[in-house]
Amino acid sequence: MIANIRKFFLNIIYSWRFYTFGREQYQECMSNAFVNNLQSLRQGNFLIAIFALPCGFIPIFAEDKNYLKALLYLAVAAIALILSFLTNYVMQQINVNNRRIYLLITLFYANLMIFGIYFSVWANPDKPASLALCFFICALLLFINPPQFNFFLTLSAVVIFTASTIFVKEYHIWIYDIIYVVVSGSLGLFFTWHISKLRLGLELSANELEDERNKYVDQSITDELTQLRNRRDFMHTFQRYLSNYRTSDDWLCIALADIDFFKFYNDTYGHPQGDVCLRSIGDALNWLRDDLGVYAARVGGEEFAVIWFEKDSSHVDKVINQWMETIKNLKILHEKSKVSDYVTMSIGVYKARCGLTHDSQVLYDLADKALYAAKGGGRNCAIITGDDIKQYKITLPNP
Ligand code: GH3
Ligand code: MG
Ligand code: MG
Repeated sequence: MIANIRKFFLNIIYSWRFYTFGREQYQECMSNAFVNNLQSLRQGNFLIAIFALPCGFIPIFAEDKNYLKALLYLAVAAIALILSFLTNYVMQQINVNNRRIYLLITLFYANLMIFGIYFSVWANPDKPASLALCFFICALLLFINPPQFNFFLTLSAVVIFTASTIFVKEYHIWIYDIIYVVVSGSLGLFFTWHISKLRLGLELSANELEDERNKYVDQSITDELTQLRNRRDFMHTFQRYLSNYRTSDDWLCIALADIDFFKFYNDTYGHPQGDVCLRSIGDALNWLRDDLGVYAARVGGEEFAVIWFEKDSSHVDKVINQWMETIKNLKILHEKSKVSDYVTMSIGVYKARCGLTHDSQVLYDLADKALYAAKGGGRNCAIITGDDIKQYKITLPNP
């Protein structure tokens, strides 16, 4: 019985703390919400500065000059401007520290509180303080804060307004003040809780939509069998590489590769085993991509394309050697191959000088021609050719 009551209350506290979303979902949307808070904070501070700045000049030029009043407005405007710049500074950082955001929000409210106390207690001792508190609570609605933080801020505001009103005002005013302040504080807490919950819910749906979109985008550019990029993505990327040419000292390399005697492989081991082989080649190229920073795609049935930039002219030999070495180390048995006991690939490379105008289809055809030459030149080898390059062949030494 006692355990049930305890569980009931713990449930209420748990759902109150996480806006009934549960801890994981709450934390997921909270990280985005903090960035929104920074935007609201910047706008809020800017509005305060715009409002307080002219108010600061009016008492100076008025007939009964009130320099103290002017100073207070100007101080509030200055603090708001400083906070606005600070927020801008924090927003430029890549990893925004949550603690810093809390601190900025607290400073924002401290500034509002000084303003509110001036308005409702000091400048108008014969009027209730609840208007200032409502103003404070409206500002609280701008932000998505954790409930504890909102509770702490509202409670502090209620205590400070109540204490200052008791201290400065007559009994018949402050007794009403207390009632107004407590009622508006409670209503404010309820509304900020509810609005934060709704905004977090929206944030969560936006996150889910974004994840879903990313998943579909990823699917549309990935080859399902090998998990390499597909032909469509290759065409876009190649075009992008071409238009993002670097300095004229660099080279853009395009390598097209084709598995040797793959038809025989399928005929011998069956189509499903052929798929397993393609998957292993895909893994090897994915590994090559991670290791050498090249771009790799499956552009046809058993045809692959790799592109990369290079500065050093001997780099191409390193990439090709490592590539052929990796395929060789897979040791995928291929009894019917006429060039090896294992699966091998033929590779054609074209090196284009960056800075010269090139058409993607022309470059692709030139690499394909090199691949054709590699097939004609005995397979299990690579033919390298390019702008101002004398064609040469790379083969791995037999063990
Ligand atoms: P070469 O050395 O001249 O390239 O000979 P090859 O037998 O590899 O050439 P060919 O182009 O005649 O054969 C390609 C084979 O690749 C034919 C086709 O059945 C097979 N293939 C294409 N796509 C797939 C696939 O997704 N899965 C499997 N298992 N086989 C495929
Ligand atoms: Mg082929
Ligand atoms: Mg082939």
